[in-house]
Amino acid sequence: MRTTSLLVDDDILVDAGTGVGDLSLEELLRIDHVFLTHSHMDHIACLPLLVDTVWEMRQSPIIVHAPMETLDILRAHIFNWAIWPDFTMIPDAERPALVFEPIVVGQKVVLGERSVSALPANHSVPAVGYLLENENSGSLAFTGDTAACDELWDVLNQVRRLSYLIAETAFPDAQSRLVKAARHLTPSLLADELTALETLPDIYVSHLKPGHVETTSREVESLLHHLRPSLLRQGHVFDV
Ligand SMILES: [Zn+2]
Ligand SMILES: [Zn+2]
Repeated sequence: MRTTSLLVDDDILVDAGTGVGDLSLEELLRIDHVFLTHSHMDHIACLPLLVDTVWEMRQSPIIVHAPMETLDILRAHIFNWAIWPDFTMIPDAERPALVFEPIVVGQKVVLGERSVSALPANHSVPAVGYLLENENSGSLAFTGDTAACDELWDVLNQVRRLSYLIAETAFPDAQSRLVKAARHLTPSLLADELTALETLPDIYVSHLKPGHVETTSREVESLLHHLRPSLLRQGHVFDV
């Protein structure tokens, strides 16, 4: 079982869940930017280990982009010297191994021909999704963890050439009480959300809780069949 992390080209990570564990040391060394959707463990678990593994072999810091609230949580609860050293001060404050860069919804970070923009989300902690764009080709939207979020679809309806959408549906419909509290989506809630989407990207469904994969994927198949969604598999490569 792996948790959320997407590698973009070879130098950008979107979220740093346990999927990062599939990368070799050479691959880890190439990561210059990490964009975090939010502070939950399944999205950040490998960030402390990543920086600890590579920092002495790198010439420049790893830049961590995330909402200010997420960075504050990381500072207070992870990089606090008790759980893990504060790598924004290692080896010293002038040449740190990690740099925290706040991002707000609507903000676009341009990296060469690529750009990463923060999308609205609605989760139990402050959260964003990300839109990945390449000026010469299409784009990919990743919702991160979110419950219903009208603003998200308003933004995505304005995106030129949206080729792919990775959407979450964490639990099956029967878990609707839990889903409400945890602010996730189920297959029927996602189906409702997608009625607001005016374009037709290839849809990939992710974040299915391991104990519920069979039921959730069956519901995805029956409730979203008109959109021909796929389940996002470990190791899947998107060509944008
Ligand atoms: Zn979450
Ligand atoms: Zn999550």
